[in-house]
Amino acid sequence: MPNAPKWLLDVVEKIFIPKLPMMEVRSTELLSPSVKRIRFSGDFKKLTFKPGSYMDIRVSDTEVRRYTAAFSDTKNGLMDFIVHLHGAHPGSLFMQQLNVGNKINTSIIKPHKCYSESAKKYVVFGDETSLALACSIFPVLKQNNDQFQFYFELDEENKNVPGLLNLENYTVFPKDGSFRNEKWISNLPVIQEEKWKDAHFILTGNAKSVQSFRKVVKGNTAAKIIAHGYWLEGKNGL
Ligand SMILES: Cc1cc2nc3c(=O)[nH]c(=O)nc-3n(C[C@H](O)[C@H](O)[C@H](O)COP(=O)(O)OP(=O)(O)OC[C@H]3O[C@@H](n4cnc5c(N)ncnc54)[C@H](O)[C@@H]3O)c2cc1C
Repeated sequence: MPNAPKWLLDVVEKIFIPKLPMMEVRSTELLSPSVKRIRFSGDFKKLTFKPGSYMDIRVSDTEVRRYTAAFSDTKNGLMDFIVHLHGAHPGSLFMQQLNVGNKINTSIIKPHKCYSESAKKYVVFGDETSLALACSIFPVLKQNNDQFQFYFELDEENKNVPGLLNLENYTVFPKDGSFRNEKWISNLPVIQEEKWKDAHFILTGNAKSVQSFRKVVKGNTAAKIIAHGYWLEGKNGL
């Protein structure tokens, strides 16, 4: 529900939110002109964080947007968002304006179900909106000695962000529409190389890129696909 009447969101907030902890901005950092990391503090002990878990955040009187917990440390009451400041839109503006000391309401945390202990190989694809998911799954992949490959399609100004986030095994592609081109996708190493044929493919970010990538993986491999478009051109919220 990306938007709803103000009165309805007010009622939801009044009934449910008092049961959930407040989150206070502890620090903010611009990793590039358009990617911001926001660290919140709060009592998150009752929340269960899994890779890719996300929250619905009320970003204006009438708008709600989804953001992923990139990092969580429930013992010390910390949680990070990594947000794409993509323009003058409710979610992007709200996140841009958040500063140290600001308090916002938490929402129920929703599991993404992208990681399964039984799978040992992962290909994780996405854009700026997927960096938080990548950060949340990376420590688990490392800890479990899984094989993994990150693919990111990013704006030029964001090409260094995966490095700043200390991610490993990543390839950055320019955001030039290549991930809409099925022929081009089918030549990628993760499609061509035998070792990825039974991997789990986690595809998030731009819905059209996700759709094309999904089609190619489905047509060329027996891999399991977890596909979730995070935004669709011309559509507000998802
Ligand atoms: C499960 C889930 C988890 C998500 N986690 C994150 C996260 O951790 N970090 C994050 O930044 N985003 C995340 N997103 C994506 C985020 O919710 C969307 O980008 C959202 O549309 C932003 O809201 P907005 O108000 O800024 O723009 P909207 O009002 O929703 O959209 C306005 C216009 O901008 C376009 N648009 C939306 N997002 C982008 C973008 N990133 N780049 C270019 N154009 C865009 C839309 O197509 C529309 O035309 C997640 C989405 C989902 C579904």
